[in-house]
Amino acid sequence: MPRTFLPALLLLCLLVPNLSVAQESPTMPSPPAWLEELDALYDADLRVAGLEERDFQPEQWWDVALPLAAEGKGFHVEEIGRSVEGRPLRHVSWGKGKTRVFLWSQMHGDESTASMALADLFRFLGEHPDHPLVQRLRERTSLHFMPIVNPDGAARFQRRNAQGVDVNRDARALATPEGRALHDLRERLKPDFGFNLHDQDVGTRVGDSDRGTAIALLAPAYNEAREVNALRARAIEVSVAIRAVLEPYISGRIAKWDDTFNPRAFGDLTSRAGVSTILIESGGIEGDLQKQQLRKLNFLALAGALDAIATGSYAGLPHTLYTDLPENGRTWADLRVSGGTLAIPGKPQAKVDVLVEFERKLLERNGRIVEIGDLDDMPARRSIDASGLYIVPTKTFGRHEPAWFNLSRDPEGRDVVWTLAGDVDPASPVPAKR
Ligand SMILES: [Zn+2]
Repeated sequence: MPRTFLPALLLLCLLVPNLSVAQESPTMPSPPAWLEELDALYDADLRVAGLEERDFQPEQWWDVALPLAAEGKGFHVEEIGRSVEGRPLRHVSWGKGKTRVFLWSQMHGDESTASMALADLFRFLGEHPDHPLVQRLRERTSLHFMPIVNPDGAARFQRRNAQGVDVNRDARALATPEGRALHDLRERLKPDFGFNLHDQDVGTRVGDSDRGTAIALLAPAYNEAREVNALRARAIEVSVAIRAVLEPYISGRIAKWDDTFNPRAFGDLTSRAGVSTILIESGGIEGDLQKQQLRKLNFLALAGALDAIATGSYAGLPHTLYTDLPENGRTWADLRVSGGTLAIPGKPQAKVDVLVEFERKLLERNGRIVEIGDLDDMPARRSIDASGLYIVPTKTFGRHEPAWFNLSRDPEGRDVVWTLAGDVDPASPVPAKR
């Protein structure tokens, strides 16, 4: 070896000490040992009846949840305010440990998946007191819940509250009673960890892939520079613990939410208030029309996160298993009708694709036409091949108009093979490929 080479090699090692480490991708932590057992218990004994449809009324949710959160089962319930329309806002607490965890759901009224899972979690905590996981959580954590932050929105199954305000853009102004109640409870509890539970658009893809995001995670930034301090590092590590639970179920369909700091949003401001905050966004699983599969995954993810917090097992989990998650990518439309011939009486026929968005996306109800023309580069969650068929409008046809048209074998619309009357009729078969 030439005499000059050794110092050069040493210098290289000093400059890039982690070269070999950086090239190895860290292995996913094993899912918790209890996962299979809890999964089976969930199906047999934890999924609470009465929440089979995701647009339940808030009163219906409390009718189901309040008996589960009884004093005799270790819970305490207090009213902490009223919504714009006078619906009760409640704080539910459980456990006697020193690590305080605060979970709130359905700040957006039409994002109910986590609320369903919280009812299941109440049942697990209250009815299985001797389960080792329940014992650990009781001894080491205090859990604080504010379910259905926006009950007026939930009653209408709409995002905003009864004043038309997006409660999740009210974290700074605190103009709504719902936002104030959430803020004041957080200030009173001064939790160590926070869980901000939402649903996102079911059309969102994972990164640049064609796969729909089932669940997206975020450890929200607490400043514009998106720095990672010790508190945010904990949130990232708990997110990795959640990922380890979800990987066996939805590998490749887990994404990361954009971490741009938003000074009006509760997650970001809770993070800035010194709480290790984790956002869980339930997206969609095709065919899971009432998000009942996602409900179970929420339950299991929360069980995994809470256990990791109780035991401290999140500490040191590799951040790259969070940072390497692809971000939420493009959002696909709901339905594309491709290659049909548009036949409007008195107008020349035209070969077009039609893109439809539904107000109730999974159920394909209340559709609206969002684009017409050559839409080859605009994919949708579902495509119908209309080549060889005529698109015959049954109401005013145009962009932004309600989606009312038939697919017919003739331009007059006599020999109809498929109907879209705002809603898709689930019983109506998709036209067969010709
Ligand atoms: Zn939301």
